[in-house]
Amino acid sequence: MLVIDSSFFIEDRTPDEPALTLPEVRDELEDTSRFRFDAAVGEGMSLETPPDKAVRRVRETARETGDESVLSQTDLRLVALAYDEDATLVTDDYAMQNVASRLGVETRGAGKDQIDEERDWRYQCAGCGRVYNEKKRCDVCGSETTRKNPS
Ligand SMILES: [Zn+2]
Repeated sequence: MLVIDSSFFIEDRTPDEPALTLPEVRDELEDTSRFRFDAAVGEGMSLETPPDKAVRRVRETARETGDESVLSQTDLRLVALAYDEDATLVTDDYAMQNVASRLGVETRGAGKDQIDEERDWRYQCAGCGRVYNEKKRCDVCGSETTRKNPS
């Protein structure tokens, strides 16, 4: 089970396993990301609210980790929902991840895989234009390589 936050919909993703979220997450979305939210609900994503006891527990933990001041009410309630449901929290928010892991809640990034992003970087020789996967001196002409945007 996944508990997903607004960044998931902004990143143009749809849940690939049973998911739930808070009704108020919809209020953080606009236009196409809001359509994706509605579509996910149509596909069976549940809207739930966490019990007060879980919210209190998360708030206490956020106070301990020093994250309370940067977390919104929605953020705290999403962590509480994941905690209460024993679900995996999907978010890119570092403070939410921090509090969740303190509570033993598994987390996952909402955006594209970090490793995929790294793999897309290429380094190009300033002399002959040869492309390498890592930053190094060119094997062919000995010039420096510079990072090249993925095309
Ligand atoms: Zn070269």
